[in-house]
Amino acid sequence: MIQLPKIRDIVVKVALILLPFILIGMAFGYVYQAIAIGLLSIIIWHYFHLLKAIHWLWYDNNSAPYNAKGAWALLFDGLFQLQRKHKQKRKELGLLIKRFRKGAESLPDAVVVFTTDRTIVWCNTLAQIMMGFKMPSDIGNRLDNFLRHPEFIHYLEQKEYDEPFEFSSPLNEHITLECRIAPFEKNQWTLIARDVTQLRLMEQMRKDFIANVSHELRTPLTVMRGYLEMLPNDEAPSMGIWPQAHKMMSEQSQRMEALVEQLMTLTRLENAQPTQYAKPTDVPALLEKIQSDAIALSNNQHEITLNIDKSLWMLTDKEQLRSAFSNLIFNAVKYTPAGGKIEIEWLSDDKGGAKFCCKDNGQGIAPEHISRLTERFYRIDEARTRDSGGSGLGLSIVNRILKIHDSKLTITSRRQVGSQFGFVINKKFICPPESQ
Ligand code: ADP
Repeated sequence: MIQLPKIRDIVVKVALILLPFILIGMAFGYVYQAIAIGLLSIIIWHYFHLLKAIHWLWYDNNSAPYNAKGAWALLFDGLFQLQRKHKQKRKELGLLIKRFRKGAESLPDAVVVFTTDRTIVWCNTLAQIMMGFKMPSDIGNRLDNFLRHPEFIHYLEQKEYDEPFEFSSPLNEHITLECRIAPFEKNQWTLIARDVTQLRLMEQMRKDFIANVSHELRTPLTVMRGYLEMLPNDEAPSMGIWPQAHKMMSEQSQRMEALVEQLMTLTRLENAQPTQYAKPTDVPALLEKIQSDAIALSNNQHEITLNIDKSLWMLTDKEQLRSAFSNLIFNAVKYTPAGGKIEIEWLSDDKGGAKFCCKDNGQGIAPEHISRLTERFYRIDEARTRDSGGSGLGLSIVNRILKIHDSKLTITSRRQVGSQFGFVINKKFICPPESQ
């Protein structure tokens, strides 16, 4: 710790400096002039050091400050130490930035750092290869000068970066890039993009394959079923097993037909857009119809109640909505033992949208299955659900339909207590009843 000089010491020092001037002044009879000369020399001495300090700060601050005396020595020492600390910090920061860049270079993804006003700050080599940036000449250029897709600009403007965004590379439209944006530091963001071309191609191949297989299976199945229906099961020639075989073949071909239908529905839904077939749909009437179908399916073995807000219509594709509702409600019938209770609700929510809920007091679902129920062909008890005609595709169809409507399925369930399947529909899909 440096000891600062006291006022008294300073006064003594100035007095000692002036003393020879006073004595000489007294000897020659010019005391005041001699004091003035003494004070002037003190000012010149300080001014000289001030100039030295300015020179050192601006032009020569790499070397140690020159050997000053008195208070100037303290000032120079302080400045020198501050400067050394500052240099050390700069070195550390430089190393940190170098390490960050090295890390970002070793990533298998393209990384671009940009500011809130979309100015490029930095990008790694992969970003240059995949998106055509040039470093360092593109630093300071705007990101949307390179990535001009209107949807991408809308995505940037919205600032809702939970979901990734896909776009084709500005260098090659056949390359699909998937990007995510995350906050980097204050007013700065990182865009991380990866090439998903192969993945999307494979997905498309899978979809096409399923669509083609389902389509090709439909005709032979219809023919088989047609003949089976024409052949009554008790008029078969001498074969003892014929009635049983006929029954099994009819059932299985029916199952296959349903499966093919469901696969084709899924394929159609995968390509559907939310607004494609949207029309005002009388949801209450649709639910009443599904309720009566469910009563028929249940053979009047369940108590099925409806609690609906008649004013909640929806802008949607009626068939999609029918499929979502009936999958959930018919499942409740299938997986609730006779005598059980099923409650269906369609009510407004507190955000101006609507919520649907189908609650049963059936067999329930163990917690480990819940998160997997919407996977294709996922069934809990395969043998049992197969007996009940289940394919494991129903909930994945519901999930897909809800995705088209910006919603998702919520499932709560307890074994032997019952299950609740529900979803919320955003107010943008809700419309008032149409006057008929
Ligand atoms: P499935 O056509 O087999 O019914 P889903 O995809 O509709 O296929 O359902 C997947 C599985 O979820 C079913 O196999 C069944 O085990 C379970 N499940 C669906 N709904 C209910 C429910 N309400 N209660 C109990 N289990 C259910």
